[in-house]
Amino acid sequence: MTQNLDRRNFLKMGGAVLAAGTAGCATGVTGSAMAGGDKSASVSSGMMANLPKAKGPRLVVVGGGTSGLTIAKYAKKEYPNFDVVLVEKRDMYSSCFASNMWYAGVINLEFLAEHSFLDAAVNNKYIYFNATVTGLDRTSKMLATSEGDIHYDFLVVAPGVSYDYDKIGVKDAGVQAALRQRYPGGFISPTEHVTIKRKLDEFEGGVFVQTVPSGNYRCLPGPYERACLIASIFKKNKIKGKVLVLDANPEITIKKVGFHAAFDELYKDYIEWKPNQGVLGVDVEKRIIKTEFDEFKFEDAAIYANCRGSTLIEHLGLMGDTQKTNQKEANIDVRFNNIIGDPFVYVTGDARPHPYSKSGNTANTEGHNVAKVLAARAQGKDPVFVPPRTICYSMVNADPAEAISVDAGYDYDAAKDAITGFSKDTKTFENRSTAYGQATLEWARGIYRDMFNA
Ligand SMILES: Cc1cc2nc3c(=O)[nH]c(=O)nc-3n(C[C@H](O)[C@H](O)[C@H](O)COP(=O)(O)OP(=O)(O)OC[C@H]3O[C@@H](n4cnc5c(N)ncnc54)[C@H](O)[C@@H]3O)c2cc1C
Repeated sequence: MTQNLDRRNFLKMGGAVLAAGTAGCATGVTGSAMAGGDKSASVSSGMMANLPKAKGPRLVVVGGGTSGLTIAKYAKKEYPNFDVVLVEKRDMYSSCFASNMWYAGVINLEFLAEHSFLDAAVNNKYIYFNATVTGLDRTSKMLATSEGDIHYDFLVVAPGVSYDYDKIGVKDAGVQAALRQRYPGGFISPTEHVTIKRKLDEFEGGVFVQTVPSGNYRCLPGPYERACLIASIFKKNKIKGKVLVLDANPEITIKKVGFHAAFDELYKDYIEWKPNQGVLGVDVEKRIIKTEFDEFKFEDAAIYANCRGSTLIEHLGLMGDTQKTNQKEANIDVRFNNIIGDPFVYVTGDARPHPYSKSGNTANTEGHNVAKVLAARAQGKDPVFVPPRTICYSMVNADPAEAISVDAGYDYDAAKDAITGFSKDTKTFENRSTAYGQATLEWARGIYRDMFNA
């Protein structure tokens, strides 16, 4: 459906939303609401959050990842009247996007985790509120958190992704829990990264499985980059082991020339890549992965299940038509990220349904654009759509640090109101080099600066 939000429609829509009743609007994490029962059940945490009175329109941003940090900063810059509150459940920042490099010693732990939510908030004149979001009532514009309710004028929900173990045939909650804890995918939380690092430090030999899911998973090159960096550890330390890459896809999903070259030229004895190996089940005790035609025994593994928009999107009642996207993601306007029919609530970052690459650079450039959309709407102006950009480096060698890269734009088809593919100016840089290795670190430093500095 085309969602043409010019100024007149936007104002009309705002009025309609304000006039709407509670049905289908208020949702939360009370038992009945989560179970699909009474959607108008109260979501209040029972108290108001201890926050100063808003001095301007209150913009609440949920999630202090790449998307939320960018939007909190730039919405305030674009429209200084905004009173911005960033609600983040973590009390320590650690980056996902540089974590593969840490395993192989290209960077140290400080490179991942030396940034502070408090500093970001002070530098950029907003409030960091350390709490977990638990519910939403869009009729009264109230967000429930573990530390009390917050009233918003505009709300951005940027909670990232969750794993979808059902899609790899693991439906039993006990097995899912065992997999999450013993063979984490390493694509969501810092504690997964620490476990994978410990596994690699202790690995004595044999098969280390890295799976690659189907669908639009977070960081398309991430599992292949990790395979290279793990293999570089085995090669350097003369470990008699190999990385078995079980890929659900028929071909490497991005930068395939560069990754195939690295697999063949640098890691012939250390990486075995197998296409069309979608995981159908895992025997956690026996350490066996089943795919459609084969079974594979492993010593250790990082099992990357399919991705979906964070379960928070579902709990808050913001999910779209899963038939259409084939993944559980938010129901938003293609151009401006607001929930269809609600110009006050936005979903951004990896929880969006777009076919964009789910990457840090996409979340960051999209965040700049969404900040402008919010500022325009808060002032009653028409927003302008600018598609995001995906510049993504992948380190394929640790010593010397060598990388490959892609610089992608996206085409929007107005007649279909859809993102239809990569734009013509998309380029890949697949001859690995130390110059790109250096550029990888500079890119990460640049994103940190953009999120945390004034
Ligand atoms: C191993 C790995 C390698 C990667 N490599 C690259 C790369 O080279 N280049 C690149 O561009 N990208 C890369 N990425 C991808 C990049 O990290 C993500 O795409 C990007 O961070 C997405 O940003 P986001 O803000 O949508 O989600 P996130 O960064 O995941 O942020 C979501 C935030 O929401 C918070 N949150 C969730 N639920 C709640 C709640 N209920 N209440 C309060 N807060 C909540 C979370 O704690 C989290 O801080 C990589 C990712 C991984 C894991």
